[in-house]
Amino acid sequence: MEGRAVGIDLGTSYSCVGIWRNDGVEIIANDWGNRTTPSYVAFTDSEILVGEAAKNQASMNPYNTVFGVHRLIGRNFNDQDVQSDIKHWPFKVIDKNKKPYIRVEYKGKVKDFTPEEILSMILTKMKEIAGAFLDTQVKNAVITVPVYYNNFQHQAIKDAGLIAGLNVLRIIAGSTAAAIAYGLNKKAIGEQNILVIDLGGGTYDVSLLTIEVGIFEVKAVAGDTHLGGKDFDNHLVNHFVQVFKRKFGKDISSNVRAIHRLRRTCERAKCTLSTSTQASIELESLFEGIDFYTSLTRTRFEELNQDLFRSTMEPIEKVLRDSEINKSQVHEIVLVGGSTRIPKIHRMISEFFNGKEPNESINPDEAAAYGVAVQAAILSGVTSEKILDILLLDVVGVSFGIETEGGVMMPFIKRNTLIPTKKSEIISTDFDNQPSILIQVFEGERIRTRDNKLLGKFELTGISPSPKGVPQIEITFDIDANGILIVSAVDKKTSRSNKITITNDKGLSKEEIERMVIEAEEYRSDREKVVQKTQARNSLENYAYNLRNALQYIDTMKNKFEDKIQESIVWLENNQDAKKDEYEHKQKSLEEIINQIMVKLYSVDGL
Ligand code: ADP
Ligand code: MG
Repeated sequence: MEGRAVGIDLGTSYSCVGIWRNDGVEIIANDWGNRTTPSYVAFTDSEILVGEAAKNQASMNPYNTVFGVHRLIGRNFNDQDVQSDIKHWPFKVIDKNKKPYIRVEYKGKVKDFTPEEILSMILTKMKEIAGAFLDTQVKNAVITVPVYYNNFQHQAIKDAGLIAGLNVLRIIAGSTAAAIAYGLNKKAIGEQNILVIDLGGGTYDVSLLTIEVGIFEVKAVAGDTHLGGKDFDNHLVNHFVQVFKRKFGKDISSNVRAIHRLRRTCERAKCTLSTSTQASIELESLFEGIDFYTSLTRTRFEELNQDLFRSTMEPIEKVLRDSEINKSQVHEIVLVGGSTRIPKIHRMISEFFNGKEPNESINPDEAAAYGVAVQAAILSGVTSEKILDILLLDVVGVSFGIETEGGVMMPFIKRNTLIPTKKSEIISTDFDNQPSILIQVFEGERIRTRDNKLLGKFELTGISPSPKGVPQIEITFDIDANGILIVSAVDKKTSRSNKITITNDKGLSKEEIERMVIEAEEYRSDREKVVQKTQARNSLENYAYNLRNALQYIDTMKNKFEDKIQESIVWLENNQDAKKDEYEHKQKSLEEIINQIMVKLYSVDGL
C-alpha cells in the first residue's frame, strides 16, 4: 500500500476518497462514519475545523465558515462570477493583488487565505481519512476537478495538493471518472457514446464521452457553474421566508443564523423528498422565539424548482449538438452527483431519452471517487484484470488562441481537443521594421478577444529590421496531460525565443507555496494540540467524576462499614482472651472493608 495513490473527488460541496484494495475500490469513511465529507473549513479561536465539524457549527460562526471556494480557484477578484458569488456568501472575500483571498478570524486574529490554501485543508482532511484507514501516510493522489476547469484552475489544484503535502499524479474531470467507475469500457463493443450527467451541490456538468477498446475520449462538455442542489435549497428557503412572513408577519431574511438553520432543514427535507412524498420542517425558536412547524410535499417541491429543473435539459442538448450525435445514439447515461437522486430530474432525463433508463448502480455521490480511485490505481502501477485496458484521454474545455490584428482571436487549440496536444502556426509582423511582437494568449469561443479571457502575455523582442509580413515567428501552444499550457514564440531567422507558462503567471509562486506548506504544518500542529488538550480535559473530567462516584459509594457504605468496625471493637472488649485464629478472622473481615474501598478508589484511575 505504501506509495499507492488514493483517488480524491474534491467536490464543491462534498468530497470523497477511495483506494484500490483487494482487487476493488474501497470508498473510505471519515471519522464520523460518513463516506462523503462536507467541503467546509471553519476557523475558531482555537482551531481549524474541516468537514462535518465545520458544517455543523456554520450557523453559530457564519463569518468564519468557508465553503464553495472552488468557484474562486484560478480567477481574478474582479471576475464577474467571483463578484456575484461573494454577494451570496456570509464569509468575507477581499482583493489582494487582484486575487481573491478569504478573510477570517482565526485564534482572535484576522487572517487571509488563498482559495488554494482552503482547498489544501480539505485535501489534508481527505488525506488523513485515507491515512487513518490504511494506517500509513498517504503521499500520492489523483484528484477530480469540474470538467470545465481551465489550465489555471488545474494548476491551482496541484498547488493545493502541494500545500497539503500531496503529490498530485494527475487531475481528471469528475465526469470521466464516473464513466470509469461504471467500467463501461468493459461493456463496450464497438464505439459507445456515454452521456455523463453530474448534478452536484453547486454545479452542473454534462459530458459526452466515447469509448472504444478501453479508450475514453471526451467529445464535448457543457454545463452551468451555478446550478445544483444549493439552488434548490435556496428556492425552498425563499419560499419558507415568505410562509413565515405570511404566518407571523416577520421577515427573517436578514437573520443569518435563522436563515442558516432554515437552509439546513430545507436541504434535509429535499433529500427526504427523494424517497418520500412528504417532509416536515420543524424549527424550534427560529426567530424571536417563534417555533416554525410546517411541511412540504414532493409536488410542491417540484413546482418551486420547476424552472431550475427545466434548465438542466439545455446543457444536455448542447453536448449532443457539439458532438454531433442525436439522442438515440447515446448508448449509456451515467448519473453523478447527489442531486440526480431527485426523482423528477431522473424522470425528465429518462423522458428526454424516450424512456431509456440511466446507469445508477453506484451511489451517485461516490461514482467520481470510485473512478478516480481506479485511475489512481492505474497510475500507481496496479495490475488487475479489472482495470486492464483503461486508457484515459481528456480534452480541453475551452479554446485557446492569441490576439491578432484588430482584436481578433486566432484559435490555436479548439475546445474539446484531446490532450496532451501541441500546435504551431507561423505569424508575422504588422508593420515595417517592427522590432518586437506582443503575444497575448486568450481563452474563449468568441471572435473578438475583448469578449474572451486574457490568460497572459509576453513579448518576443530583437526581431531584425525587415518589411512587414516577412519575419517568420513560430507560435506553439503546448498543453500537457494535466491541461497546463505553455505558449512559445520563436523567430525562425534568429532563433530568438520567448515563452510563457500561463500557470506561473497567476498560480502561486514557489515561495508562496513553501510558506503555505510551513503554515499548513503549523495548523496541523495546532490541531494536534487541540486534540491533545481535549484528551487531557476529558481525562481530568473522567477522573473527577469517577472520584466523586467512588466517594459517594464510600459515603453510602459508611454506615455499613462503621457497624462492622463498631461490632469488632465491641467484640474485642468482650473477648480479650480469644484464640489467635479468631482475632485473625476478625481482622480479615475488617480488611474486607479497606479492600472494598481500595477497589473502588483504584477504579477511579480508569485502569
Ligand atoms: P458536489 O457538488 O460536491 O459534487 P455531491 O455530488 O455530493 O456534491 O452533491 C451534493 C448535493 O446533492 C447537495 O446539494 C445535496 O443536498 C444533494 N443531495 C444529496 N443526497 C440527495 C438526495 N437524496 N436527494 C436530493 N438531493 C440530494
Ligand atoms: Mg461531484
